[in-house]
Amino acid sequence: MRVLAWFRSDLRVDDQRALFYACRDATRGVVAVFVVTPAQWTAHDVSDRRVALTLRQLRSLSASLMKRRIPLRILNVPDFSATPAALLALADETECAALYFNIEYEVREHRRDEAVKRVFEAAGRRVRAFHDQVVVPPDTIRTRAGGFYTVFTPYRRAWIKVVQESDDAQVLGSPRRQPASPTPPDPVPDAVKGFDLSVDRCDLWPEGEQKVASRVDRFISRSLRDYHDRRDVPSDEGTSRLSPYLALGALSARRAFHDALAAAGGHLAALDDRRGAGCWITELIWREFYRHVLVGFPRVCMNQAFKPETERVPWRRDEEAFAAWCIGRTGVPIVDAGMRQLLAEGWMHNRVRMITAMYLTKDLLIDWRWGERHFMRHLVDGDFASNNGGWQWSASTGTDAAPYFRIFNPFAQGRRFDPEGVYVRRYVEELSSFTGPCVHVPHVSSDGLFSGGYPAPLVDHAEARRRALEAFKRSRGSPRKPR
Ligand SMILES: Cc1cc2nc3c(=O)[nH]c(=O)nc-3n(C[C@H](O)[C@H](O)[C@H](O)COP(=O)(O)OP(=O)(O)OC[C@H]3O[C@@H](n4cnc5c(N)ncnc54)[C@H](O)[C@@H]3O)c2cc1C
Repeated sequence: MRVLAWFRSDLRVDDQRALFYACRDATRGVVAVFVVTPAQWTAHDVSDRRVALTLRQLRSLSASLMKRRIPLRILNVPDFSATPAALLALADETECAALYFNIEYEVREHRRDEAVKRVFEAAGRRVRAFHDQVVVPPDTIRTRAGGFYTVFTPYRRAWIKVVQESDDAQVLGSPRRQPASPTPPDPVPDAVKGFDLSVDRCDLWPEGEQKVASRVDRFISRSLRDYHDRRDVPSDEGTSRLSPYLALGALSARRAFHDALAAAGGHLAALDDRRGAGCWITELIWREFYRHVLVGFPRVCMNQAFKPETERVPWRRDEEAFAAWCIGRTGVPIVDAGMRQLLAEGWMHNRVRMITAMYLTKDLLIDWRWGERHFMRHLVDGDFASNNGGWQWSASTGTDAAPYFRIFNPFAQGRRFDPEGVYVRRYVEELSSFTGPCVHVPHVSSDGLFSGGYPAPLVDHAEARRRALEAFKRSRGSPRKPR
């Protein structure tokens, strides 16, 4: 049997389940395939930078696969609807009797996979799907009543119990080298219709599994131990910056988990400690929690709030304020620094993601979906579940979200997490002449005389806070049923 291994958000050789089992089961070799779907990516707001990193990672993956005599074929179709026929034609051409892939949990991806399965099975081909994106598959964990968790802390407890009790979280070895390949690999394209790859930042986000592994090692040796202390300081390199690689699947979540655990002595007891490795692994569990939510409550994939009653919040359609937020000209230094970091690097520090998202949804009272989309269009680590989860958390519309009345004061957040203003000055050059914490309140520090064309705050925080509280309070009448 020859197997077609379909790569999607799992662009690696290490601990890649579908690939591993394809190589184990195949008797006549394995053909790998990746499907470029430009119209679908545009519809899903995939960013230019994420596409650029995907192509670079594919080139590196193709070389690693060839070392195992597995050719990587590239198909190019507009969207998911054209995918089943294109894959089946390739299976015919290369005489593959089976298709193996790893599960993607989003609704449209799931529908695509069901369509592919139907077409393959109707043609007498075998299809096998594997859980690979996560340490613990999203629907494995259930409450006592059999439902899905909506609160993180008990989910985390249940997650740890599953890992303790099963072997499924183990890292698999390297896939077997195959017999001579029946087809040459395709070149990975240099361009994708509709995407501007000139914005690529290969200096920040290098490709290739070896470089990713070095980044993991560097983070573990230099920063893991103090992670709990440093992770909220945006000017610091205190977090791993592995999110783009987890999003693309260039790094296995199980590998990341086991490496961090090993650094803490290898015992699951390390997870009881909310410092160092225990704290970092908790972030990996947040990633899995949001996938669990997406599978349990697929309405979050359909542009809907997890909390139906929050659909009544009278979001303001203020295009001008939104545009100012997008380009980092709100007059709130920590917000503007974050938004500019996003545009320059395709990435933003987690603390600042929370601050900017809460500012948009509370201070500006603009729909979280506008922000979610803008982030997705610019993040190199854009990941539907984590982005949607983060936005709905910040907007108080989601599972285990920030209560609507706990609204960050963005000026106080700036002073607390960037006390010397190092982060702000790095990205907001108009404020480079300010020293120390006064950089967070230039409109106060300079008696309203702004230097360098930096704008005054768009809104008064105290007034905006009152407006948001009122809007949320009014929306809390009788809950609307989910559509
Ligand atoms: C509004 C908003 C939008 C977000 N959008 C995304 C997104 O599109 N893609 C994305 O990967 N993360 C997103 N996050 C989560 C988080 O900000 C990033 O994962 C983190 O900043 C990545 O940096 P790091 O790799 O250095 O993280 P580390 O602190 O080193 O954490 C390790 C890994 O854990 C995961 N992780 C960490 N924090 C979270 C979290 N709060 N939720 C889910 N997973 C987490 C990531 O995979 C991360 O790489 C978002 C958060 C918010 C508040």
